[in-house]
Amino acid sequence: MNITFNRQLPTPQEIKSMYPLSDELAKKKKANDEEIKKIFTNESDKFLLIIGPCSADREDAVIDYIKRLRKIADEDIVRDEIVIIPRIYTNKPRTTGVGYKGMLHQPNPNEAPDMLKGIIGIRRIHLKTLTETGFSCADEMLYPENHSYLSDLLSYVAVGARSVENQQHRLTASGIELPVGMKNPTSGDISVMLNAIKAAESGHTFIYRGFEATTKGNPLTHAILRGYVNHHGESHENYHYENLIFLANLYDEEHFKNPSVIIDCNHSNSGKKYLEQIRIAKEVLHSTTENEKIKKLVKGLMIESYIEDGNQKIDEGVYGKSITDPCLGWEKTETLIREIASIRKKLKSKK
Ligand code: PEP
Ligand code: MN
Repeated sequence: MNITFNRQLPTPQEIKSMYPLSDELAKKKKANDEEIKKIFTNESDKFLLIIGPCSADREDAVIDYIKRLRKIADEDIVRDEIVIIPRIYTNKPRTTGVGYKGMLHQPNPNEAPDMLKGIIGIRRIHLKTLTETGFSCADEMLYPENHSYLSDLLSYVAVGARSVENQQHRLTASGIELPVGMKNPTSGDISVMLNAIKAAESGHTFIYRGFEATTKGNPLTHAILRGYVNHHGESHENYHYENLIFLANLYDEEHFKNPSVIIDCNHSNSGKKYLEQIRIAKEVLHSTTENEKIKKLVKGLMIESYIEDGNQKIDEGVYGKSITDPCLGWEKTETLIREIASIRKKLKSKK
């Protein structure tokens, strides 16, 4: 094999005992989980916002950003209508495999990969965020075997568009006791996403981290629509009324545990025109008013947002500006969150 085994890394258990979660923080995270879970089981009619930078490129700026989210989340109108799950995305899939692979690989984006520093760095940022802001966050499960490094800290897991057809992702998701969002694949085939949900809803026996492992199935697995790319490489959206009805009808055809969808407002839905996220968010909210099925199905939005508008090259070094996909800056973000809360409130009062 053409692989050099550089060094053995600590197991998730070892890392967890080096950077443990206190009982008090574990309770806080459990309370967050409960509040979020109720949205997927229709016991709560609050609206989810999974929001934050495309990639968690540096701890200081990401925690600064999430502290701003905390303040907004605590405003009365927002607290009554919305549950915020910050994105701390520590592993980035790359279309061609090259480029910045996220904090797990490069705790310093300008330095060579260091996987030991990486696993410590990603645990530290999630733990510090929970300690300092009370938020347990969302991350992408790009490498299923690494989920256990963060399993006690996360409140939401996404399986990305490039991973959703993969068996190991589906089987691992079946053993996670959190909402797992399955994105539609980059090609847009909705059946791939629904098959991923079906697979994760059932229990499985398979090999995980060198063990024979058995899972019970995850009833909180659901869809994320992120737009798609056609065979000419052009982006197409799938957040419109017709797309939502189409998904609702497919969900109806088979018995799913908790039919739900999150709409990703960026990626191929915006064609990475990040400012479009504002309009897309409002269009989706409008669609929920037009049809009861859509209203029940749409549990929230995913928004890529950071301190500064747009994105930059890795070595430009602007604090709080994305080094991967372009994000909505802070001022526009806070306005949008308040607007979403007040639209939701108005919709409820019309009932
Ligand atoms: C992301 O959420 O930043 C991401 C990489 O998404 P997708 O898998 O939809 O490309
Ligand atoms: Mn992104």
